[in-house]
Amino acid sequence: MQHELKDYRKIVGDRLIDQIMDESTGIIGKHVVNISSTFYGGGVAEYLGAFVPLLDDTGLHVGWRVLKGEDEFFHVTKKLHHALQGERIKLSNEEKSIFVNQNKYNASFTHLNHDAIIVHDAQPLPIIKFYKKKQPWIWRCHVDLSKPGAIWPYVRKFVNLYDYAIFHTKEFQRKDIRPKQVIHQPSIDPLSAKNIRMTSAKIKRVLKKYDIDRDKPIITQVSRFDKWKDPEGVIETYKLIKRDVDCRLVLLGSFATDDPEGEAIYRKLIKYDQEDEDVHVIGIKDDQLVNALQRESDVILQKSLREGFGLTISEALYKGTPVVAGRVGGIKLQIKNGWNGYLVNPVNIKETAKVTKKLLLNDKIRSKMGKNGKKLVEDNFLITTQIRNWVRLLSKVL
Ligand code: UDP
Repeated sequence: MQHELKDYRKIVGDRLIDQIMDESTGIIGKHVVNISSTFYGGGVAEYLGAFVPLLDDTGLHVGWRVLKGEDEFFHVTKKLHHALQGERIKLSNEEKSIFVNQNKYNASFTHLNHDAIIVHDAQPLPIIKFYKKKQPWIWRCHVDLSKPGAIWPYVRKFVNLYDYAIFHTKEFQRKDIRPKQVIHQPSIDPLSAKNIRMTSAKIKRVLKKYDIDRDKPIITQVSRFDKWKDPEGVIETYKLIKRDVDCRLVLLGSFATDDPEGEAIYRKLIKYDQEDEDVHVIGIKDDQLVNALQRESDVILQKSLREGFGLTISEALYKGTPVVAGRVGGIKLQIKNGWNGYLVNPVNIKETAKVTKKLLLNDKIRSKMGKNGKKLVEDNFLITTQIRNWVRLLSKVL
């Protein structure tokens, strides 16, 4: 269901919504377009799905275009994604030309006469080369760029064609690029099917549909099937906990059209589901299931080895569920160790299992941390704050 800004008054109060309306008066009628690489799966699609219609509701005309590409292109961009997060991967000349030429092809049928253009992540980065620049171009980076691999000088050449670069956190900002740098923290939509309030009867029904019994504590990780989310490490953590606490593990992941590796990782994980009736590996897109699990689980894990932000963490915290997560990237913006969850060294299974167990065994701490987490998200990571930040930036840029 599509929402309007006025629907958020009851959640965030009148002041913020009035502020957005006031501050956007100077840019009403301007055309802004977003370019990304998928409509489905992953944080960027999630974010744009809420962001585009709401920003449009301020009086701007806001659009969203998605790159057309085949497996060959997305294999290259996935490699690029790994390399930007620090892996020692090189792109061959052939791969570089696939990357650039697919962008050139997309530019040939994507007419951009907008007042501002926002390009998300690395996949569409080179598209700028194929336009006569008449307006500000903004690169919105959603990944952890703090320690990019050797690929960076190649990618930086494209980044330098942009006027602005937006990062989640100071830690990802770069000293070696030309665009003006801005920090915007991501956000979740409290009114989406994934986050909206759910009755306990409904939660029960949804879990039942997937045969998840509520007879023992539940630990869940909701994530694309991606090696940086370390699903195998989650299984190891669960096995260690299981020695002392009888519990269930749910690994829920959906597949993104721009992520060709997810399917293979899912197939590898399925064996754990078959071996142990308390392990549920689910590969399906179901926002109600995400919502129900984030509410009903005793602990949410996000054992990422690298993470741009991790919307899944704010989603869980907003529902009053504590999170145990890797002390990496944008996760550190969301978890205060010992206050709304625990930050762990994600390669340290023992440490991860120990704090998760501590939470599972202590209702009082869980409930206290749950309250703290909800407050943190309400104050910092709701979509309306994001809309205000964009209205401010666009008013300046335009
Ligand atoms: N997600 C989902 N279903 C799944 C797994 C993930 O809807 O089975 C959503 C999740 O709720 C979140 C987004 O995909 O909104 C993932 O964003 P995040 O920033 O956590 O990670 P990314 O996938 O961008 O690395």
